[in-house]
Amino acid sequence: MQLPREVIVGGDVLRRVGETCHRLGFLGTTLVVTGPKVQSIAAVPVQESLRASGFKFQQVLVKDSSLSQSREVEREISKAKPTVVLAVGGGKDIDIAKLSSANKSVPFISIPTAASHDGIASPVVSMKGHGKPYSSMAQAPIAIMADVGLIARSPYRLLASGCGDVVGKYTAVRDWRLAHRIRNEYYGDYAADLALMSARLVMRNANIVRTMSEASIRTVVEALISCGVAMSIAGSSRPCSGAEHLFSHALTRTAPHPALHGEQVGVGTIMCAYLHGANWQLIRDVLRRIGAPTNSRELGIESQYIIRALTTAHKVRPDRYTILGEKGLTNEAAERVARVTSVIE
Ligand code: ZN
Repeated sequence: MQLPREVIVGGDVLRRVGETCHRLGFLGTTLVVTGPKVQSIAAVPVQESLRASGFKFQQVLVKDSSLSQSREVEREISKAKPTVVLAVGGGKDIDIAKLSSANKSVPFISIPTAASHDGIASPVVSMKGHGKPYSSMAQAPIAIMADVGLIARSPYRLLASGCGDVVGKYTAVRDWRLAHRIRNEYYGDYAADLALMSARLVMRNANIVRTMSEASIRTVVEALISCGVAMSIAGSSRPCSGAEHLFSHALTRTAPHPALHGEQVGVGTIMCAYLHGANWQLIRDVLRRIGAPTNSRELGIESQYIIRALTTAHKVRPDRYTILGEKGLTNEAAERVARVTSVIE
């Protein structure tokens, strides 16, 4: 079980990166993996903090979340020989830093600039390669440093998307229980409860998320971190990823213009809650209050792609048993679930 050793959530966190690296016992050279959009607002302050603490650093700019990009960073790691990799940025930057550092057996610190999904704290990476996205286990961050002020400056849409990803645990855990009962799959109460607790926390605070206040950002960030820890405890993405995620992955493959991961997961959760016979109206109301999409129009995706994703989701990851079963939904069943839940008109 790999767990983060330090989790720092608060104001002015970037300035404390150098001292945190010291405290964790790192020395010498560090490698900052970041993206072009956040480089000046986030990576530069991180580098100033590293310099002030006597660290040397190299920097790599991430262009995309492909396997070739990860290999490029691995070559950088071989050259610079850093004692730690610092992932400064959004999901793509963190995924690349996570995978490349894991492949080179170097620890990494996650420094997210947005709270858009649970990859900021999980050991799982979602990569694009061979034309389809897939997730795999890499390594958990040794530390997570979330600067609330920095995240407050990111677009609200990203935070709302993060909430969608967390709300998704409502059905992910139900799918896990189902797989345990039907397939005798390993099920861990503790990891499942931790993921569910995060979902409940965000659902309970749905009204304040919109304020983008320090308290609301803290709530979402802590929920995302707890989800990451749940995956670390379970040793897989099981507690955090069920049919709602398969639907989102299928939609990303089929829709010409996919929405954000957490936005798609949120809409998937409404429909999967219906399939489970759970309170799908509650999920829809929570997402509405947060200001996250609840239907195909708000996702900006035509209904035909929603239906296609629903009928093909079970093929995305056949080893992951969910409410969709082995054969998936028929076209008629997919249409019914999407219409009853008002995801399509
Ligand atoms: Zn997710």
